[in-house]
Amino acid sequence: MILPVTNLISIRNFSMLSIHTHNFGPYENCVYVVYANVKKVAVVVDAASGSFEGLKKCLAGHEIHLFLTHGHWDHMCEAAKFQRELKAVVYAHKGDQNWFATTEQCKYAPPGISFETISPNIWVEHGQMIQCGDLVIKILHTPGHTPGQIALYVESLHSVFVGDTLFYHTVGRTDLPGGNFDQLKDSIRHILYTLPAHTLVYPGHGKKTTLGAEQQHNPIVPLRENSL
Ligand SMILES: [Zn+2]
Ligand SMILES: [Zn+2]
Repeated sequence: MILPVTNLISIRNFSMLSIHTHNFGPYENCVYVVYANVKKVAVVVDAASGSFEGLKKCLAGHEIHLFLTHGHWDHMCEAAKFQRELKAVVYAHKGDQNWFATTEQCKYAPPGISFETISPNIWVEHGQMIQCGDLVIKILHTPGHTPGQIALYVESLHSVFVGDTLFYHTVGRTDLPGGNFDQLKDSIRHILYTLPAHTLVYPGHGKKTTLGAEQQHNPIVPLRENSL
């Protein structure tokens, strides 16, 4: 069978760079791993409770780039273990610096969660392009759920990792300290919804969706205010 060139390109990309989804912790956080196998580079999105033990064998021997979507404990509580034991380079946005630097938020975690503060290696900025092996990641600053919430857009995989900003047919909560619903709405409408509609959305919890599906069917932040 002869495939058109465009299909061949996408098959090649997906065979080299596929997204693995893992669920860890009491809130079933989604932790994503993308292996750029040729260069033994692994990109990890978030460091939920249990993720270090769960992933350390698979990640051993890789150059690891760990992106923290935001500073809530359920997304970053084991980041220091990745940094210390696996020499991961940790990326995050300075807007959530307080969450990363103190144990203050442990009051929100159930008993028994191992929590360590983290000093990220690199503070990222909106619009920054970061190359990790064959993967090019565009940082999008999408405040609202927290001040330092980011999304990671990977155009070559038609994918965006959004943390707790946008979920399947709902959005992230804004009632925790630093949350702001108007900002969240602006981040979704004016940043995420400007990406191609076929873009796959990989959220911090729950199942995947697409931007097009959320533009049409999200009951809280549809594409336009009056489209309900
Ligand atoms: Zn959160
Ligand atoms: Zn969360």
